[in-house]
Amino acid sequence: MTTDALSSPRVRSHNLGLILRSVRDHGSIHRARIASDLGLTRTSVTRLVGDLVTEGILVNEAALPAPGRGRPATPLRFNGDTFALLGMDARVDHTEVMLTNLAGEPLASEVFSFDLPVAPDDFVARVVEVGERLVDAAGRRLLAVGVALPARFNEGFATVARSDRFGWGEVDLIRRLRDGFAWEVPMAMRDISRAAALANARQPEMAEHERILHFQLGMGLGMALTAGRELDESLPPIWGAIEHAPLGDETVLCQCGRHGCVDASIGFRRFEELTASLAHGTAVGPTGIADHMQRVSAALTAGDPEASAAVDHLTRILAHVLATVGCIVVPEAVTLGGYPLLLGAGFFEGLRLRMLEELADPPMLLQSPLGDQASRRGTVMMALDAYIDAL
Ligand SMILES: [Zn+2]
Repeated sequence: MTTDALSSPRVRSHNLGLILRSVRDHGSIHRARIASDLGLTRTSVTRLVGDLVTEGILVNEAALPAPGRGRPATPLRFNGDTFALLGMDARVDHTEVMLTNLAGEPLASEVFSFDLPVAPDDFVARVVEVGERLVDAAGRRLLAVGVALPARFNEGFATVARSDRFGWGEVDLIRRLRDGFAWEVPMAMRDISRAAALANARQPEMAEHERILHFQLGMGLGMALTAGRELDESLPPIWGAIEHAPLGDETVLCQCGRHGCVDASIGFRRFEELTASLAHGTAVGPTGIADHMQRVSAALTAGDPEASAAVDHLTRILAHVLATVGCIVVPEAVTLGGYPLLLGAGFFEGLRLRMLEELADPPMLLQSPLGDQASRRGTVMMALDAYIDAL
């Protein structure tokens, strides 16, 4: 490839994308660093960055006085004004639609629940209505949309192959969202596990780990793998669908008619059954799971035997699943998402010890600073990536 960044529209778009990814990964970066990192000339970078500043995508930070003589170096960052990204994190128990600026800083959000199953058209109508309202209220121009769903996808992640939780078969969701929205903007869609994995992998605390396996455990269940700061897109969309892997409790009958499925053994509904005396009915609504887990945590602290047995059961099976998957995938680290995070640091320590019993050299278990907010953050990152990819 030529180093002349302006030689053709395709090369120009490609280089604009590289520059924006560089700003995305550094938060704030100098033109000289961009030029040396990307192997582009200073002149090319200056002209391309100039265009992005004119469009309102990037902004020059206040210049720091340069040491010695010479012009002060002005770092670049995303322009926090003007544009907005929309993220839609559709979990089984609650959906959050959030608006952020290009730096990922929250501008507004709204949380609500669907009665499941929900018809795809009703889902689209509601999220579009909320999304458009948030964008209008913020007075911003929408740049892109990212959606996370408890679903499996077809190749290309534009259509849902199936979502048992939402009661969907094949749904061309991206087309329906496009038809629904007043604006023509790039969109990206992934399962909850991939959205969470992406956000976790981009946390500074995770930077030293190249391959991170994320395990999402709630009313849906799945895994995703990242390579560096990106999802490992060499894996087929079906990768990570581990709900019915026979690695769980063999005495438990799954809805699929088989025994020992992971979801039937340690999915949230099973955990809720095992802590039934602490339940206030079935956990529903945006805070149902959090409320239930808070009661379990309090009961654990008070030495309640039922809560303690349920957490032991969860720890034992989850350690077995992670040790088994870890042997096959060989990630550098593992992150967790979903209801077990609400059990706190004590649970993590127990899980680490249990994994050491399962395996001499288990993958490192890391606590992401995003906790159970990871998939939500991931939707906005997916939106920004969709915008960059569409340049
Ligand atoms: Zn099953």
